Amino acid sequence: MTAVGGRTLAETPVGPVAFPRLELTEWAERFDLTAGVTLRGEGASLGLWSEENVGTVMTRWRAFLHSMHPDFPAVVLGHQVHGTTVNWHDPFGAGWLIADGVDGHATAASGMLLTVTVADCIPVYLADPGRRALALLHAGWRGVAGRILEMGLKVLREQAGSSPADIVMHCGVGICGSCYEVGPEVLQALSRPKGGENHVDLRMVLVEQATQLGILDVSVSPHCSSCDRRRFFSHRASGGRDGRMVAYLGSPAA
Ligand SMILES: [Zn+2]
Repeated sequence: MTAVGGRTLAETPVGPVAFPRLELTEWAERFDLTAGVTLRGEGASLGLWSEENVGTVMTRWRAFLHSMHPDFPAVVLGHQVHGTTVNWHDPFGAGWLIADGVDGHATAASGMLLTVTVADCIPVYLADPGRRALALLHAGWRGVAGRILEMGLKVLREQAGSSPADIVMHCGVGICGSCYEVGPEVLQALSRPKGGENHVDLRMVLVEQATQLGILDVSVSPHCSSCDRRRFFSHRASGGRDGRMVAYLGSPAA
């Protein structure tokens, strides 16, 4: 694990629950927000767009959502494309919303669980606790280079009136710098110096961006999806054959 800027904040096991996961107890206690990530468990992949049978994966999604009841009757997810589109979601009651080509979600609705699927990419949790406005972003190198964080802040500002100083940010479970060796195209896209270090710590780059954008309260998970394959799925460590975890963020229904 490589040391990065931003204070370390560890997700911890929630239990006993039907679906294995880690959550930020600090966000639950300070903000009454549910923020976490599922674990690989006994093959508990939630990757809908994978080689696995969709019906099997949907059955797991239902088990996961059932374990979140009654706090979250609504769930949003996206068919992610490593882009920078962040959708704002107004309340829609109960059920599923699947958005195409979307890598980030935001809302101020309680009872709505925002989700992104990850396996090395960084889930970025943003919350403006005072306005109960939330965003959850899927940030691999393309999303980081495309500045999806800035897009998330823009949506929160336009839709909820949030300014960066109001926002708390957490960079969740993902690949660490030691495990993430990249080629020259990635270094160039991320404006990292060429010729020296060819490892990138995406969470460190996100913390740098956050600081530049004026976010004051930034924390970083100590967990690496690739170092700890017993608990997490890792695209890189599996040669692209692994499943997906779900990162989630929401304000529980009253
Ligand atoms: Zn690692």
